[in-house]
Amino acid sequence: MKSECLNPLTNAQKEIENACKLLKVSDSAYQILKEPIRFLEVSIPVRMDDGTIRIFKGYRAQHNDAVGPTKGGIRFHQDVNIDEVKALSIWMSFKCSVVGIPFGGAKGGVIVDPNTLSKSELERLSRGYIREIYSIVGPDKDIPAPDVNTNEQIMAWMMDEYSKLSGKNSPGIITGKPIICGGSLGRTQATGYGVALMAYEATKYLNLDIKNCTVSIQGFGNVGSYSALNLHKLGAKIIAVSDSKGGIYKEGGIDINALIEYVKENGSVAGFDDAEQITNDKIFELEADIFVPAALENQITTDIARSIKTKIICEGANGPTTPEADKILYERGIFVVPDILANAGGVTVSYFEWVQNLDNYYWTLEEVEDRQRMIMIEAFKKVYETSNDYKVDMRTGAYITSLNRIYKAMEMRGWV
Ligand code: GLU
Repeated sequence: MKSECLNPLTNAQKEIENACKLLKVSDSAYQILKEPIRFLEVSIPVRMDDGTIRIFKGYRAQHNDAVGPTKGGIRFHQDVNIDEVKALSIWMSFKCSVVGIPFGGAKGGVIVDPNTLSKSELERLSRGYIREIYSIVGPDKDIPAPDVNTNEQIMAWMMDEYSKLSGKNSPGIITGKPIICGGSLGRTQATGYGVALMAYEATKYLNLDIKNCTVSIQGFGNVGSYSALNLHKLGAKIIAVSDSKGGIYKEGGIDINALIEYVKENGSVAGFDDAEQITNDKIFELEADIFVPAALENQITTDIARSIKTKIICEGANGPTTPEADKILYERGIFVVPDILANAGGVTVSYFEWVQNLDNYYWTLEEVEDRQRMIMIEAFKKVYETSNDYKVDMRTGAYITSLNRIYKAMEMRGWV
């Protein structure tokens, strides 16, 4: 058998190609969509606390702006690479379009393990990155946001740096900011809230009662923890959680509020004493009705797809399932809510944040959550219907739904 492809760019391109074929769009559409329209590689010199200078490598990929300015997070991780950033920018275009918000896709990344930097080094790196990409970003060009290992503090530094360079207060340059700096209520928890909503919709379509469902979650960062909290609020029982340092299991259900407090202090779920300790591979072996991958790419490979014991996979992470694994899951009748739909809550509320910044008028949490819920439930329905119409899995249904919008915009602009 051909070995499994773990290159996220190749995998993203396969998904687009498949959707282009099913929608019977012109080959020029695929040629445009298979790569970002713009890609910038930068070197960021940072003065370290000991006085030496270290050069960090960073990237920004702008995939497609036919529908609107490009949008997507910035990742700080030691494994960031060109193909990953490009793939993540592609997924952002398709994510924005699946929920019908007027943005194209982008993504940024810096090769760094932020845990090895002091706070002031991290600030200098964050400001340095914005200085290097300054000419290609802007509230009506490309709007960054948080992603893996970046947070509201980093967004505030970046917004401040951009504002200083542009000579005016520019909150609309970036989303995921602290509330006091123009952030939106509901943004921090938005991705996890959306994941829980999408898992809940899936249970309804499968005639399962969420209150009788067990859940296991891989990853307990922003997405994993808020997915857990919101699924718990909906009545589901979280029985297992893992992160890069270890995992925990409790048949009767983990106390999520206590776990969140524990992780704030200890930096990992490992060692949480009101549960059994498990290895992080074990998370794929346990039986649970809903599985939420909320870590990095390529976690559900063919081996895992063959053995995983779950009914629903709701993808909090971007690209957690390989295309080969996807086929197996579909054959096994496991219902997958694909990343571009499942984790679209983050960018949906980022869109609200940007709208509030441009209006300089701020919404209540209730308004934010009501609108997020409305948009995401409608998108789920549309993707479900499309996948039924085309007799394909939910991921392909989501790609077709998105491509339809992006293609129409490109066609009207005269690109294809
Ligand atoms: N990084 C998040 C994502 O992958 C959010 C992007 C945004 O809000 O622009 O969807």
